[in-house]
Amino acid sequence: MRYPVRIGIVAVMLVTAITTALAPPTWADPGFVDGPPDGGQHNWCLSASVSQALIAPIQASMSYLDSASDVNGVPQHVPCRLSGGSQTDVVWKGSLLDPGDIGWTGCESWWSDLASCDRYGVYLDKNQIDYYALYPANEYRHTACHELGHSAGLSHYVNGDEPGGVKDCMMSGVWDGGQSWTRTYDPHHITSHLNAYF
Ligand SMILES: [Zn+2]
Repeated sequence: MRYPVRIGIVAVMLVTAITTALAPPTWADPGFVDGPPDGGQHNWCLSASVSQALIAPIQASMSYLDSASDVNGVPQHVPCRLSGGSQTDVVWKGSLLDPGDIGWTGCESWWSDLASCDRYGVYLDKNQIDYYALYPANEYRHTACHELGHSAGLSHYVNGDEPGGVKDCMMSGVWDGGQSWTRTYDPHHITSHLNAYF
């Protein structure tokens, strides 16, 4: 299935949770969201729209993905390659999103057989993170980890529905406490999803 991923929707749900009963968790670990990715290198680039404050968290997220899993996330394209046969896998963008959305990931170029995604757009909205987070720098890192996970084939889940009871950065919403799980992938996501594909 292909559909956009909006963790900001959950952020809004958290804000309104005080007066609104939350629906039961729907996370079922369905695997790839808007994919799968095309395997091989998971190279990346920075669009001009990415603000300075987001660059270090993005670099840290790519570096972590590379070291913690079989995904090769080291190669950076300068500039981004947005056409032709070897497009950049992860194009980071700082564009503004819909109200309530702090991050979004979607496939922006499918291979001709439509079997996998050649290029993802990975969006971070600094303004909305700054608005929703008490500690924005921690949330830049959490959202970067979360959205990058989507581009590498991970689904998200809601609080209380963690895979194996272990939290990781794929939990939706604003989690800016700085705990290590807010910037890492749990063993299930690494072994059964990232490594299984890459
Ligand atoms: Zn998500």
